[in-house]
Amino acid sequence: MKITILTMFPQSFSSLMTFPVIKRAVDRDLLTLEIKDIKDYAGGSFRHIDDSPCGGGGGMILRLDTLMKALSSSLSPSSHTVLLSPKGKVYDQRKAREYSTLSDLVLVSGHYEGVDRRFEDHVDEMISIGDYILTGGEIPAMVIVDSISRLLKGTIREGATEDESHEKGLLEYPQYTKPVDWNGEKVPEILLSGNHGAIDEWRETQALLDTKRLRPDLFEKHVLTERERMLLEKSGGLSS
Ligand code: SAM
Repeated sequence: MKITILTMFPQSFSSLMTFPVIKRAVDRDLLTLEIKDIKDYAGGSFRHIDDSPCGGGGGMILRLDTLMKALSSSLSPSSHTVLLSPKGKVYDQRKAREYSTLSDLVLVSGHYEGVDRRFEDHVDEMISIGDYILTGGEIPAMVIVDSISRLLKGTIREGATEDESHEKGLLEYPQYTKPVDWNGEKVPEILLSGNHGAIDEWRETQALLDTKRLRPDLFEKHVLTERERMLLEKSGGLSS
């Protein structure tokens, strides 16, 4: 898979390769990252990439002509183009999975007051990483690269992502490690029992209970299977 990032601040991506999973994806040729400087596509001797808003107001807006040059230089027949914007659909694990199946993803990072509205019509979609305002699209682009890299087959252990939070609309079960007793705070006995059937059932139940307690919004949307309903009933978690 190839991910191209269009940005005014290419240097801010230098830390990406220090993250082991991203580095592994690149080293194993599962992922190609290309970081392009939007400034290289600016016309005129002053290389203007932004300008003041039409109609007045503060801040600077990235120019359509420069953005279009940068975008068209990055397209292949299979490109999926995304403008990072607080106005976009909120990114989630389902979207990360969808993107991880693409061969060519182009992410455009805005900055300052944002981008010329007309540019929105030249991308396939707009994506936000949450309902808050960041200074630029660089961190959202890194979030997307990170979330995709760990889903590329061959990057991390096969099956490692299956039970993770948000994969099936639920949170992951609670995890523990040594020491098994820290000042009286003990790891649940069942996890030390060696009974893998019972451990699996406990984990399934805890994932449901944790989702209900910590993210009632997700729990409400989740359609319980027969087995999940049975496990919840058994734990008394359906009535509480
Ligand atoms: N004036 C814009 C508004 O009110 O919608 C916000 C512009 S923001 C300061 C500058 C750039 O940061 C945006 O063009 C976008 O690329 C990026 N950005 C900011 N918040 C974001 C978010 N939550 N998700 C994705 N990108 C974001």
